Amino acid sequence: MEDNLYEVKTYYAIALDPIHVGAGGARLERVDLPIIREPGTNLPKIPGTSMSGSARAYTAMRTSRYNLKGEDGKTYSCAGRGGEGGENHCGKVDPACPVCVPYGFSKGTYSMQGLAQFFDAQILFFAVASMVGPIWVTSPLALEGLELKSDLQVQDEAFYPLGEQLRNKDKLNFGWIMLDKGNGKGNIEDLPIPEMVKQRAVLVSDKLLSRIVNSNLEVRTSVSIDPNTGTAEEGALFTYEAIPRGTILKFDINYNSGQFFMVGGRKLKAEGCGDVGPAWVKAQVEKGMKLFEVLGIGGMGTRGMGRLRVLNLAKGDC
Ligand SMILES: [Zn+2]
Repeated sequence: MEDNLYEVKTYYAIALDPIHVGAGGARLERVDLPIIREPGTNLPKIPGTSMSGSARAYTAMRTSRYNLKGEDGKTYSCAGRGGEGGENHCGKVDPACPVCVPYGFSKGTYSMQGLAQFFDAQILFFAVASMVGPIWVTSPLALEGLELKSDLQVQDEAFYPLGEQLRNKDKLNFGWIMLDKGNGKGNIEDLPIPEMVKQRAVLVSDKLLSRIVNSNLEVRTSVSIDPNTGTAEEGALFTYEAIPRGTILKFDINYNSGQFFMVGGRKLKAEGCGDVGPAWVKAQVEKGMKLFEVLGIGGMGTRGMGRLRVLNLAKGDC
């Protein structure tokens, strides 16, 4: 029996491939297929909805909630939107479906919002090429909200090396932007990110981070293939943006308890785990997120893009 009502967990993830989550075709942009950006900072992000959509499909895979035979003889699939009126979701609450309950479902006469609430993934450390190899750039705003031991400061139009390996550099280039070392302060020791990223991390101002990121995004050119002939369509060359490989992202998920929920007149029960609490919801979602690093998120999956390794998944169930 759990009595906590919710748990918020902050996740850290590294892009194993370039990641493209499209903003929808906007021909006015410098590329044909731009990615989604945060309006305030102009930094690319991955919307929570695209992560929860992928996680839902992968939790369904790992818990065998595809093509289920229901008691009524119909076939159900708990992945996806559940058909037009949600008639394909199983909507089971006792025992709770490991997909429908964490991610939500609609069954016509009754429905429920998912107990897992995904927030957008933001860039924490952006991987960029420099004369000394790859370095990871961040800013005070990007690191805001994390429990760091020190406050963060950096001079405008300068960089401050957070990592040991860059301490003796007086100048560094970030793509084509060259900066001098300035005064600053910051400690990222406690973050659960790869040691190499910490060693080669650099702090810049929020304004500079946006400039560095937006001038170092991957822009690729591809060609549309005509499905009828299998050859390139005439004039079908297009460009698209992506968050580069090696970038560290962070995102929060709020796991709610379902212990006071009544759905269709029934209480939620987790098989073998008592009431449905935040820990059970988290365990189901993390089963799905484990597959982000194999099957990827976002678009362009068939073009070798989108794999994301979540760095701090827990072990265990319930
Ligand atoms: Zn279900």
